[in-house]
Amino acid sequence: MTIEQKAHIAEFLDLASAYLRSGYKRQSTDDKSAAPVAVEPAAPQAPLPESQLEAIAPPDTHIAGISNDEAGMDTLEAIAADIAACAACPLHATRTNTVPGEGVSSPLVLVIGEGPGENEDKSGRPFVGEAGQLLDKMLASINLSRGENSFIANVVKCRPPHNRDPLPEEIAACAPFLTRQIALLKPRVILCAGRVATQTLVKTTNSIKNLHGHFIECAQIPFFPMYHPSALLHDPSLKRPSWDDLKTLRVRLEKLAALKV
Ligand code: SF4
Repeated sequence: MTIEQKAHIAEFLDLASAYLRSGYKRQSTDDKSAAPVAVEPAAPQAPLPESQLEAIAPPDTHIAGISNDEAGMDTLEAIAADIAACAACPLHATRTNTVPGEGVSSPLVLVIGEGPGENEDKSGRPFVGEAGQLLDKMLASINLSRGENSFIANVVKCRPPHNRDPLPEEIAACAPFLTRQIALLKPRVILCAGRVATQTLVKTTNSIKNLHGHFIECAQIPFFPMYHPSALLHDPSLKRPSWDDLKTLRVRLEKLAALKV
């Protein structure tokens, strides 16, 4: 990690820390020394026209092609085993490990990125490099973690060579695994991390610049696009909008918790 990247992560965490100290969620009655810090709320965003957005899930099932009955017989272990044995696209030939995803079995949030990178390919775990460490810290800033209330996966389960974008035919070949995961996990929100995941899941060519921070409500499970953590590492100007997006997500999750849905 470069000095610049370390400074960037530290600055991001300072923002998160200030926000929590301001009393948003975890204000401690014992912490008299922490002066409230004013953090302005995320700017309201106009809803996107639904005509642009065709969700992958029809209204009577959680995901296209899989009924709730079928999902009820599935398991994360079975999906991971099927992924490990998969040779449905050329990515199987260059992978070291498959990366099915990890997290809790009944998550509040399912984070979906585009595909494994070098570190993920070596370890078989999603988001474990620098971008993954930043993702964990971003999630933690709004009380989310893969160990407690989230699941992290990717559109494709094997690493595209040289970290290129997965090809449409690779995404199509791998889609049944992701649809099984979504049907089984039934997350309250799907966080689409980055352009490829967003455009794949929402079926749009609209840019992540336009879509980030908007809830897309076309399915039973709302999609929430955000910039990919690796984009934040390369472009510090994305830090502030990403922090605003996290606050927007947290407010939605708080409402869901209040409604107990
Ligand atoms: Fe199979 Fe998906 Fe890996 Fe392609 S990327 S080989 S479809 S598991």
